[in-house]
Amino acid sequence: LIRVRGLRKSYGPVEVLRGVDFDVAPSEVVCVIGPSGSGKSTMLKCINLLDAPTAGEIAVSGVTLTDPKVDVDAVRARIGMVFQHFNLFPHKTVRANVTLALRHVRGLGRAAADAEAAEQLDRLGLAHLADQRPANLSGGQQQRVAIARALAMRPEVMLFDEATSALDPELVKGVLQVMRDLAGSGMTMLVVTHEIGFAREVADRVLFMDDGVIAEQGPARDVLERPRTERLRTFLSQVL
Ligand code: ATP
Ligand code: MG
Repeated sequence: LIRVRGLRKSYGPVEVLRGVDFDVAPSEVVCVIGPSGSGKSTMLKCINLLDAPTAGEIAVSGVTLTDPKVDVDAVRARIGMVFQHFNLFPHKTVRANVTLALRHVRGLGRAAADAEAAEQLDRLGLAHLADQRPANLSGGQQQRVAIARALAMRPEVMLFDEATSALDPELVKGVLQVMRDLAGSGMTMLVVTHEIGFAREVADRVLFMDDGVIAEQGPARDVLERPRTERLRTFLSQVL
């Protein structure tokens, strides 16, 4: 479903991604781990076209994103993205946050958008909060609203960038449970995370990024329990 080949990204003279290759199959959950500054967020931003690759090829369900003629909005509508900071609109209700893109990107009318929002909010246990503003919600609830908003667009793949790392510890579990359920429902997911326990339990495969390349990749158990490089051994001993 996702195919990345020879991906490179430079900011000025600094090469942040130095040739990244991997695939994500339909319904596969791939977790990306690695030290701060290794290029994990940059890689996700390239896949979501928030950032333009310097070189290489990215395809999502057969559409080559790196083709200059690509329809950026159509591609973005297929890819759900959840960030560390939820980026909800503070002055809009939870319902309005979820319906905004439905109405303006997918072109649904108010009733259809409200119905879709209600379904997703209900699925994430947020139905009772639809009329609240984000500031009245806990961080965990806000992050679940951000996930509902992404899911309402019916994406083919979901990208998560440290979705739980800004949350208070007691709120992390609820968001991880939502992500675990989503994985169980067959969603294709590419998840940047420091939650090694989540990766071990949910990921089909794990990618270890280090200094702009994928230093190790393979089945979650192999990568997390039998690291082949000293770098990954050191990293795992620091995050566990
Ligand atoms: P973290 O775990 O801290 O989130 P990361 O693996 O996500 O780290 P990136 O955010 O991808 O790392 O950043 C990789 C490198 O690229 C860093 O050295 C960062 O300073 C640099 N970088 C990221 N975005 C930009 C930008 N817009 N302009 C210049 N440099 C950038
Ligand atoms: Mg990052």
